[in-house]
Amino acid sequence: MPTGLSRTGYISKEELEKAPGIPSAERRRKGPVAVIECIQDIPCNPCETSCPTGAITVGEDITNLPVLDEEKCVGCRSCVPICPGQAIFVVDESLDNGKATVTIPYEFLPPPEKGDVVIALDRSGKELGEAVVDSVRISEKMDHTTLVTILVPREWSMEARGFKRKLQEKRR
Ligand code: SF4
Ligand code: SF4
Repeated sequence: MPTGLSRTGYISKEELEKAPGIPSAERRRKGPVAVIECIQDIPCNPCETSCPTGAITVGEDITNLPVLDEEKCVGCRSCVPICPGQAIFVVDESLDNGKATVTIPYEFLPPPEKGDVVIALDRSGKELGEAVVDSVRISEKMDHTTLVTILVPREWSMEARGFKRKLQEKRR
């Protein structure tokens, strides 16, 4: 079965493993950290300039892939709404209840509310199961892109990359 962004429209596990913006499992267990799923050599670097700690490097050739310095990343989420490709997420696997949080850029209206139960989706749009909205933050800098953080089982932390509203599902 064909895999890869150019064939399926979403990133394969093999492509993710090679991306220089993916933090290690060890770092993810320490606390919130950016997961930069950017694998195309496009001229773009706002992620680099948005990071207050210098944790992202694209460099002089702005077609370079962004490289994450996982020890410099403090999980502040500033880079998430700034990415035009919606390719940056923040994952926190440090919770001690077998859960993790995933922060997702969300551009639909209205945004969900804290406590809402939603259906987590993987990169292909496949349903993973129920997740709970942990926080909702509206970015005033970036055209009011909403950052939604969902609480998921820890084993979904590198799988859940979107969600759909349960209300929308009921209305169909
Ligand atoms: S989450 Fe914050 S510290 Fe980490 S890479 Fe993004 S902007 Fe930089
Ligand atoms: S802003 Fe997004 S698309 Fe642009 S280089 Fe950074 S991660 Fe890639």
